[in-house]
Amino acid sequence: MEGAVSKQYLLLAGVPILVHTLKVFQESPLIDEIVLVVPQTDLAKAGEIVSGYGLSKVARVVAGGKERQDSVENGLQAVDDGYDIVVIHDAVRPFITGELIRLAVEGAIEHAAIAIGVPAKDTIKRVDHGETVCETLSRDCLWHVQTPQAFQRHLIKRAYEKARADHFIGTDDAVLVERLGVKVKMIRGSYDNIKITTQDDLRIAEALAGRRQEREGPMRTGFGYDSHRLVKDRPLILGGVEIPYGKGLLGHSDADVVLHAVCDALIGAVGAGDIGLHFPDTDPALKGISSLSLLDRVAALVKERGFSIHNLDVTVVLEEPKMRAYAERMVLNLSRCLSIPPERINIKAKTNEGMGFVGRGEGIAAFAVVTVKEQDET
Ligand code: MG
Repeated sequence: MEGAVSKQYLLLAGVPILVHTLKVFQESPLIDEIVLVVPQTDLAKAGEIVSGYGLSKVARVVAGGKERQDSVENGLQAVDDGYDIVVIHDAVRPFITGELIRLAVEGAIEHAAIAIGVPAKDTIKRVDHGETVCETLSRDCLWHVQTPQAFQRHLIKRAYEKARADHFIGTDDAVLVERLGVKVKMIRGSYDNIKITTQDDLRIAEALAGRRQEREGPMRTGFGYDSHRLVKDRPLILGGVEIPYGKGLLGHSDADVVLHAVCDALIGAVGAGDIGLHFPDTDPALKGISSLSLLDRVAALVKERGFSIHNLDVTVVLEEPKMRAYAERMVLNLSRCLSIPPERINIKAKTNEGMGFVGRGEGIAAFAVVTVKEQDET
């Protein structure tokens, strides 16, 4: 494309195209690790983008080669030997979805080699160099091939080794596997999964991004607050994690002030009242119950009401004990209950500088803010 900026760094809806793409992989539960391949001259810039956007699954940024095939080969060499399945994707296809990644990975587990594509809609003719039609191909068997393509790691490595030995250059990864005589399974992808290579593509991409945003529906925010009294001889449970302290919070359930604030924020965001309405403290079934199971039920309620959870931010206010070492486990508990990636959950703690009931060590308070989105029904 014209211009000094490589196309993968051009902005789409205000964010580099590369970031749109990486985010989908970052958020897929099937992806453990990402190897990003960029031109040698872009290594520093790509590294900054990765850390700036919190793309923690990007384990390595490696330099590409002369041809696409050389770049993918460098990427494959940087993949840890412990992995069974490798998914290869063009950074300039930002409309990849979590569902397509799932189809590709599950397909590769079953069939060893997967290409994603869509049936051709236009009639395709073979034309000679004099621009005369030689043949009209039967459209029934023609597909546009996209990425992701997914493979068992040992198979794609072998395919690349053979291509190198034969000096064969292909236009995708699947063809290298086909040359081994191994069948590649085609899986139907999406016509939206376009490759952005021209200014026209970028305009189409802007329109697609806008349409997606509309379809996602408006965001809603919920706010929650809770506090409990600290007493002797109770376990201290915060965010579903037991913290050794000698004192704990008093309450009908396990008195997990963090999860109660989160529950109230979620209930508030979907307009369903408050935690007391759903879980009255007069209910004997709730006595001593783990608040993680209350949160499970609130997550189900949010879903029932047609919303998905986008992100969550929590502030815990306490003088003692130090909470930092436990925050990661709290985030993982919340991530599991709410079915959202840990990257979208933030937990922080602060003291009250000795003031008020928290300052005197009489109790702990927590605040939570959550955003939810109306779910796409199409
Ligand atoms: Mg409470």
